[in-house]
Amino acid sequence: MEQLVAAPASVLLLDYDGTLAPFHTERHLAYPYPQVVPLLESILKCAKSRIVIITGRPIIEMGPLLSPLDNIEIWGSHGLEHRPADGIYRQIMIAPETAAVLSQAESWLNAAGLAHRTEIKPGGIAVHWRGLPDAEVERIQSSAQKGLSGFGEQPGLKLLKFEAGLELRVTHPNKGDAISSILNGLDHKTRIAFLGDDLTDEDAFRVLNPHGLTVLVRPEYRETNAQIWLRPPGELVSFLDQWLKSVSM
Ligand SMILES: [Mg+2]
Repeated sequence: MEQLVAAPASVLLLDYDGTLAPFHTERHLAYPYPQVVPLLESILKCAKSRIVIITGRPIIEMGPLLSPLDNIEIWGSHGLEHRPADGIYRQIMIAPETAAVLSQAESWLNAAGLAHRTEIKPGGIAVHWRGLPDAEVERIQSSAQKGLSGFGEQPGLKLLKFEAGLELRVTHPNKGDAISSILNGLDHKTRIAFLGDDLTDEDAFRVLNPHGLTVLVRPEYRETNAQIWLRPPGELVSFLDQWLKSVSM
């Protein structure tokens, strides 16, 4: 925070689900903790900090969740999509062979009766099981794992486990690649931090560690590449509040 006070500029990189917002069985109702949006608005108003959301969700889902923060910069689909604060959307195209494998995986999930648990997103397919009874979770997980692992071994694809599901997605870009792109555009005086909770955030922690602060936001500790650990919502809100005070000085 002392470095932040002295720095001419700073960048606050934030994962969304599990970091700014508690999990919800209805994914479109996973709103941020109450104090988060007002704090982000105040930080942006100071004009000394850029804020970037780096999420596994497609960008199109983020508007209603972050309202009224309409113009915030977002890297979506783990870095495959980017919408800067000036609003010009860009999506990295994936190889046609990779897209073909993803659509075969989609057909497999449909045939396995998992269509209603499946989310098709740019560069990936996710199977969700949040909120289901344990026995059902076990059944879906083992079926999806068995069926998708072959696809996950194809070139350019990987199978990722996240908080309450599995995702078959392109190996690159990942969140670490998004952070590399952001770092490329910064000068060495800019202070930077990234806050995340999930296993997919570990790529981002690894890339950012030599250049800035990495923060695991999670109710329980787990082994991580992040430098510090905050428990949401209290310690997260207090961190954002200290950030705001530091850039307002
Ligand atoms: Mg997350």
